[in-house]
Amino acid sequence: MKKKYMEEAEEGRKALELELKKKFPGHLVYVFRVHELVECPLKRKYRERFPDYAFTVFSKPKVVIGEMIDIASKVVSGLKYDYVAQRAVKVADRMVVGIIGNINIYDEERGEVIEVKFTDRLDKTPRVHHIEQVRLYLWLTKGFRGKLLYISPDGWREYFVSGTPDTEEVADYVYKLVNGMVPAPKWKWECKYCPFKEVCEKWSTG
Ligand code: SF4
Repeated sequence: MKKKYMEEAEEGRKALELELKKKFPGHLVYVFRVHELVECPLKRKYRERFPDYAFTVFSKPKVVIGEMIDIASKVVSGLKYDYVAQRAVKVADRMVVGIIGNINIYDEERGEVIEVKFTDRLDKTPRVHHIEQVRLYLWLTKGFRGKLLYISPDGWREYFVSGTPDTEEVADYVYKLVNGMVPAPKWKWECKYCPFKEVCEKWSTG
């Protein structure tokens, strides 16, 4: 299932890239998925180079449980789910970046995006990269409010995310990524859980 999702995601990326190249001739065009904007910049490169490594993560029991909870919560919500939103932003002279987000749950009427996360422990605060992800979804949908719903074996907790970024902020965000200004790893805990650590020259213990 994940493989099919990844293939469809890749098709979506190529289609948007083609559309932007036609619309902005002579421009450099990049397309990113939202998760690629909030993670270590090397992961995208390794995902392309070593697709089999990328799949190892999907066979882990925790990830499988997370997937099942994810599907159940989407169906129970009665709202749109796996909603694909995309927008383009000019990040520099003759450079355009398309951004695609696959939103867990989208309440179009209320302008609310909901991101569901399975976790083994409930923290007191939401994780920073999850907040970034939801804020980018808000920009994509021009939404008003985001919600992060953490589900664990001990219960669940939800957090509201506000502060839709303006286009200038998103352009700056992407500019830094395209120009190699985002460190690898982006978060100090990231290498520990990374499926590419065996092949990565930048792997670190944080
Ligand atoms: S091992 Fe660390 S630096 Fe390398 S791709 Fe993974 S997160 Fe990035």
